Amino acid sequence: MNIIVCVKQVIAGDQVRFDPRTHGLVRSAEFSHINPFDLFALDMAVRLKKEHSGSITAVTMGPKISEEVLWEALAMGADRAVLLSDPRFAASDTLATSYVLGMGIRKIGNFDLILCGMRTTDSDTAQVGPQLAEELDLPHVTGVEKLETKKDLFQIERVSDGFREILEVPSPALFTIALKTAVHLPSLLEIQDAFTKYSIDCWNLEDLNADPTRVGSAGSGTRVEKLIPIAQRQSCVFIEGDVRQQARSLFSKLIDKNLLS
Ligand code: FAD
Repeated sequence: MNIIVCVKQVIAGDQVRFDPRTHGLVRSAEFSHINPFDLFALDMAVRLKKEHSGSITAVTMGPKISEEVLWEALAMGADRAVLLSDPRFAASDTLATSYVLGMGIRKIGNFDLILCGMRTTDSDTAQVGPQLAEELDLPHVTGVEKLETKKDLFQIERVSDGFREILEVPSPALFTIALKTAVHLPSLLEIQDAFTKYSIDCWNLEDLNADPTRVGSAGSGTRVEKLIPIAQRQSCVFIEGDVRQQARSLFSKLIDKNLLS
């Protein structure tokens, strides 16, 4: 089974900064790491490769520094890594990102399955998986928790509206993964090993034969007009008294705030 896993480098939660002029995210290697949700996708790919043999290709779109997540993917068990990078890809929204990923995946070719994370911890739209599936005209399912193969079909499980759905999807397909299991993170030795064993393919706009009007801000269907920081209004109140008094006091505070009807 040939699997492609999309991995994104994200900015650590407390380090998200925006360029006041472009409203784009300011990225730096120091405060970036692999999107935690993509680790679940990689972990599932490694399990499927063990069961069915085949290959895993990790792909990311981003500046040069984002190749760090590809080294991690290689250390976790990917066989090949592709960085899609070009200054003209900067300022891409999810639509333009999905187009670039789609062009990269067309160039990689010969795949049975594409796995994405459910969402990212920085921009957090959860749009790229479904948009990429549309771009490549593939069936897709979001929030997959379990994935098995059944003859030529993928049998998947997802939870939605309090129901566990079991679906069968033909290959090739794209799934976004929402696992809640522990993932084996690569050790420094495994990452070092990846450096000695592999190299990373880096493709730009021309390599992808991509349309320049569909990438970057030109190819983006949305534009950030304004960013308004939300004031955090959290406060901590200690309730005094014995347990009964504390319960009464808490109850009346919740009533006062209209949190209980
Ligand atoms: P999600 O849809 O939440 O990600 C789901 C999954 O898709 C991930 O788990 C991963 O598997 C895959 N995936 C997502 N992105 C990538 C990727 N790059 N490579 C590989 N796999 C990926 N960012 C800027 O840096 N500069 C900008 O100017 C800018 N402008 C934006 C304008 C708008 C209106 C919006 C909505 C976003 C903008 N962004 C910008 C953010 C940029 O669009 C996102 O970083 C990117 O499209 C991914 O979206 P997401 O993080 O919400 O991914």
